[in-house]
Amino acid sequence: MANPDCRTCQGMGYTTHGDDRHATARLCRGCMSPCPTCQDRLSRMERRPDGRVWAVPCECGQLRYRVARFDEAKLPAFFHGKTVERWDTKTRDEQAVKQWALAFQEKGKAGDRGILLVGGPGVGKTHLLCAILRFLTLERGIMCRFADSFQVLQDLKVAFDEGGNSAVLLEEICTVPVLVLDEVGKTRTDGWQHDVLDTIVSRRYDAGLTTLAATNYPLPKAGTPLDKPMSLAESTLRETLDRRVGARVYSRLMERCRTFTLTGEDRRLGG
Ligand SMILES: [Zn+2]
Ligand SMILES: [Zn+2]
Repeated sequence: MANPDCRTCQGMGYTTHGDDRHATARLCRGCMSPCPTCQDRLSRMERRPDGRVWAVPCECGQLRYRVARFDEAKLPAFFHGKTVERWDTKTRDEQAVKQWALAFQEKGKAGDRGILLVGGPGVGKTHLLCAILRFLTLERGIMCRFADSFQVLQDLKVAFDEGGNSAVLLEEICTVPVLVLDEVGKTRTDGWQHDVLDTIVSRRYDAGLTTLAATNYPLPKAGTPLDKPMSLAESTLRETLDRRVGARVYSRLMERCRTFTLTGEDRRLGG
């Protein structure tokens, strides 16, 4: 199997790449491609105690399976190499969420309650969520999918308008065991976009699937009734997530996700 001393993959057996729109992984060219055990024949010969020789599946099949799960998760290319371990923490909020992420990537199961990360742009929400999916796919072979809610609704609309496979894409997002839903609340608050977001969140809620979500919009202050009227000026000044996505989507996210509010500085500024 993978060479623990390999300098290309540090013994992981795979490398990840960001040359395209989506992140991709492949078997390490330094130690696993071609596979030293089966020379990419995917099976190897094994001599049994009775002396007969049998073809058995090569262990590299497991690694190939996990590499394929990573590609299917469709992480944004920029985040291909991000890991939870390398996510810096300065504040107590960040330490708490990192601990959660480390525990989830090791032991979390599809069906477990997910997380909702709340915080302004650049606090590292997308890095952290992509890093969790990287581990779940490449180390544990769990089926995952990354979706920027704004982008996925655009993709669905284009597919629908062109008579393409919008139903296939929607089905994938609704049924994948672990979904990252980034930029929740960025989409329109009414009409078709709202209905599709409602469908995604409701179907995943009904099926008890795991969603890891992130939003730039703050949560409402405790005690504010969801449907309390707000003046236009008030609502544009400080729009909250419940108003962006509606009471139904909001309450389902809250029920299925543990919330972490990140107050750190913008990581994209200053080094
Ligand atoms: Zn290697
Ligand atoms: Zn092999």
